[in-house]
Amino acid sequence: MPLVTMRQLLDEAAKGGYGVGAFNVNNMEQIQAILAAAKETKSPVIIQASRGARKYAEDLYLFHLILAASELNPEIPIAMHLDHGNGFETCKSAIELGYTSVMMDGSLKEDGKTPTTFEENVAITKKVVDFAHERGVTVEGEIGVLGGVEDGHGAGGSGLEHVTDPDQAVEFAERTGVDALAIAIGTSHGAYKFTKKPDGSVLKMDILIDIHKRLPHTHLVMHGSSSVPKDLQDVINQYGGKLKQTWGVPVEEIQLGIRNGVRKINVDTDNRLAITGAIRKVFAETPEKFDPRDYMKPAREAMQKVVAQRMTQFGQAGHAGDYKQLPISEFVAGYASGKYDARPSAKK
Ligand SMILES: [Zn+2]
Repeated sequence: MPLVTMRQLLDEAAKGGYGVGAFNVNNMEQIQAILAAAKETKSPVIIQASRGARKYAEDLYLFHLILAASELNPEIPIAMHLDHGNGFETCKSAIELGYTSVMMDGSLKEDGKTPTTFEENVAITKKVVDFAHERGVTVEGEIGVLGGVEDGHGAGGSGLEHVTDPDQAVEFAERTGVDALAIAIGTSHGAYKFTKKPDGSVLKMDILIDIHKRLPHTHLVMHGSSSVPKDLQDVINQYGGKLKQTWGVPVEEIQLGIRNGVRKINVDTDNRLAITGAIRKVFAETPEKFDPRDYMKPAREAMQKVVAQRMTQFGQAGHAGDYKQLPISEFVAGYASGKYDARPSAKK
């Protein structure tokens, strides 16, 4: 199956009442791990690359690896998504290359660190939406600012400094016409999200629920949503690592989100932890080995296990065969006619 648009994948998820994991990739083994998990659980999936990943792997390597994944697995719907685009040119280059979805993170300036004003965010996001929708490509925006830093991207801080204001979220969706919206509800990028198991004082699920009620057609996105399970931290520390204990977003909270409009869940840290733990184990137990395959294979398997588990927990498992891919021309026409208008004022 050729790549699908993220819009189709998320519309189907909304119909089916489930969420879809969006997993970050930088290399072949991570892509293979995701596809192995998707095949194992019969799941549609979003594969996403950040600016850092595109730079690390070089754009064309990564693009063709993801295309290879879709050619080898025609039964799996795959959307290829740009994670945290920092400006119009970054999004445009991904769209022109063939990504079927982009995130324009206009919550931060082009440096990827400094928060923007609301008006700046609306203006840059709208510009990307106009360009992308003319080409049938899906757009995710962000309102509010996430905490932490990952791949050099992020405002830092705890995640509670710029929690999304629901009124602004509604106005933002109305003025930009984004398909999907990342909101800040206290989560952070990276491994160090919370210093204890999060509760309502640090994870603002009530805000998410309120926003979904007011934006029923805009797919909500949870960033920084690795669960950072203790067993993955323990493997790393058991074999010589030095991670401080930390807490991620509990799966039950993500599932509560999915019952309230969350359709895309970004997971990166858990996979990084699984890979690193598996490699450390090989190095510690068999220091005489030097063939990269001896540690990349267990690393790939460890990531597959985490991804398959998330796919089951998010509910996307079993849904790969529910639908046929719509051509991108359907979305070009559908955006032009208003069929895919997700704004709250759009007639449904
Ligand atoms: Zn993010």
